[in-house]
Amino acid sequence: MDKQKTVLIVEDEKNIVDIVKFNLQREGYQTLEAYDGQEGLHKARTENPDLVLLDVMLPKMIGFDVCKALRAEGNNVPVIILTAREEEADKVLGLELGADDYITKPFSMRELIARVTANIRRSAMSAAAIPAASASAMPVAGELSINTDSHQVFRGGKPIDLTQREYELLTFLASHPNKVYSRVDLMEQVWNYGYVGDDVRTVDVTVRRLREKIEADPASPTYILTRRGAGYYFSV
Ligand code: CA
Repeated sequence: MDKQKTVLIVEDEKNIVDIVKFNLQREGYQTLEAYDGQEGLHKARTENPDLVLLDVMLPKMIGFDVCKALRAEGNNVPVIILTAREEEADKVLGLELGADDYITKPFSMRELIARVTANIRRSAMSAAAIPAASASAMPVAGELSINTDSHQVFRGGKPIDLTQREYELLTFLASHPNKVYSRVDLMEQVWNYGYVGDDVRTVDVTVRRLREKIEADPASPTYILTRRGAGYYFSV
């Protein structure tokens, strides 16, 4: 039996906290609550949760700043941002600040539980996959090489700092060279979502951030290419 996982809910609307807490506990999760951004940041630092559900509009410190502060400290806890439906820009900004996922309000409990489960499972799998030993980096294409033991990516011998998700997307595409994957495929394969709504935009944002890090000229990429109307592929 797995250790019980803990979800930190950072949300200032008590009725939302209550219903989310009720549903998570029913699924076997432990929960912690914080009703403003400062308290949320403090609990994320000190309580070591397995996942953080983070509202954007919070008293004292907004959700984006909480996420940014955690990532700046090297804290890689999975973060799911909760946004209002009309705030499209929020989703993109949240992902750029290092959130793993977002969910739009109002959300169904079924969707929320599915996202929480998928993100915790993915995070646990990648943690287990990192051995202590470090082999030499395997050349992939051009100047790019990947060390799958240490989870490091290099361009021209220089290490590139990728988020967990960027690393997973890159290694997934690179391990199937020249095969085109649709955004829905990638959501299923890399993000582990069985359910895909209108959130394929997440894939575009992650591809864009990855290109900014690995490509010499992100505007005319040579590694991760777009096949118009079909999806993305790793070119070799
Ligand atoms: Ca709020």
